[in-house]
Parts: sequence; C-alpha cells; structure tokens
Amino acid sequence: MTCDVAWALAWMASARQVIADNRELLIDLDRQIGDGDHGENMDRGFAAVVDALAGQECATVADVLKSVAKTLMSTVGGAAGPLYGTAFLRAAKAAPSAELSSAEVVALIAGALEGIQARGKAERGEKTMVDAWGPALDAAQSACDAGADPAAVYEAAVAAAYEGALVTEPMQATKGRASYLGERSIGHIDPGALSSALILKAGLDAMGEDR
Ligand code: ADP
Ligand code: MG
Repeated sequence: MTCDVAWALAWMASARQVIADNRELLIDLDRQIGDGDHGENMDRGFAAVVDALAGQECATVADVLKSVAKTLMSTVGGAAGPLYGTAFLRAAKAAPSAELSSAEVVALIAGALEGIQARGKAERGEKTMVDAWGPALDAAQSACDAGADPAAVYEAAVAAAYEGALVTEPMQATKGRASYLGERSIGHIDPGALSSALILKAGLDAMGEDR
C-alpha cells in the first residue's frame, strides 16, 4: 500500500483501535507518574477522530491530518490534547501531496516533532513524547537517505519510536506533570511516549501485509 489518503484514513481507524485496546495500560502508566487520565483522554479523542472523519470528504493525507488535529485539540484535553493537536497540524503542513514520497514521510514525522516541541518546549531526554518522535525522525531520515521506499521509511520510524518509548523508563521527568515527582518519576515508562509509539504503529498496521 502507498501512503495516500486511503492509508491515512485506515491509519486513524487503526489508531482508534490500538488506543482503545491499550486504554487501561495508558491509564496505569499515567497513574504511576501523572494523574491517570491519559488512556481515557486518548480513547475519547481517537473515537471522536474516527467519527469526525466519517462525516468528511478528505482529498489528501493533509486533509485527514488536519481534521485529526482539530478533533484531538478539542476532545483530548490535558497536556496531550494541544501537543498532539499541534503535532498533527504541523504534520499536515509538511505532507501536502496526494501520495507521500519517502522524503514526505520523513517530513510528516519531522512536522509532528516540531509541533510537539513548539508547544511543549521539551528536548529529548526529558521523559516525554519527544523521546518517541525524536528517534522516529532519526530512523526515518536514515532509512530515506539509504533509499528506502515510503513504507520502509515508516517502518523504521515505528521501531525507533517503540525503542524510544521504552528508553523513557530510567529517565527522570523534567517536563510536564511527571516532573513534579522528581526522582520518583524514574522507573516508569512515559505514557505519552508509549501512546505516540502506538499511534505510529497503527500507521504501519494500516499498510497491511503487502507493503
Ligand atoms: P496531563 O499531564 O495534563 O494529565 P496527559 O496525561 O494526557 O496530560 O498527557 C501526559 C503526557 O504528555 C506525558 O506522558 C508526556 O508524554 C506528554 N507531555 C507532557 N508535557 C509535555 C511537554 N512539555 N512536551 C512534550 N510532551 C509532554
Ligand atoms: Mg495525565
């Protein structure tokens, strides 16, 4: 499958499912170092994303991502709503084509990371979703530079996002609600980094077996 509008719609349907399947896990992780609302917020947000997309005509990947941004911004709440909203908005701007090239898959991820950092001012290593998107961008860029096709670029990003999410466990949080815990934030995976990896993975699942 190519990275076109049908893929972007399938990505969001798959994200809705994977977030619903991991709702309790995300709640649990956020209970450890936050207030426990991340799973519920994200589940509500992605259900609304799919509902909104069902009532819309999207001609491009960017149209889909713009709709996602708007919905997440208005339904997720907490820190994650504006962060993911800005991420999808910048991703949409970075990927305007009907069918994404390898370079545009990189640009989509770069746009998302830029949006998160513009909004949240976190750098890598502060135990946030930046620790998933940052490595995802590096891996996507390397794969693109090596001549990988869009699906392979995307696949490299997903693997790195997961690894990045797991690597948040030994980190001490210095941004967001978890930073209030100081050293007690050490030893738990950051919920937003994991939800980021799950959302990215949904895009890979949406490409199907024949990618
Ligand atoms: P809240 O902290 O308001 O309850 P959520 O629980 O929905 O919001 O989201 C928490 C997640 O948001 C964290 O796990 C982290 O990944 C992310 N986050 C929080 N602050 C920042 C920030 N400044 N930059 C990037 N990500 C952040
Ligand atoms: Mg929370």
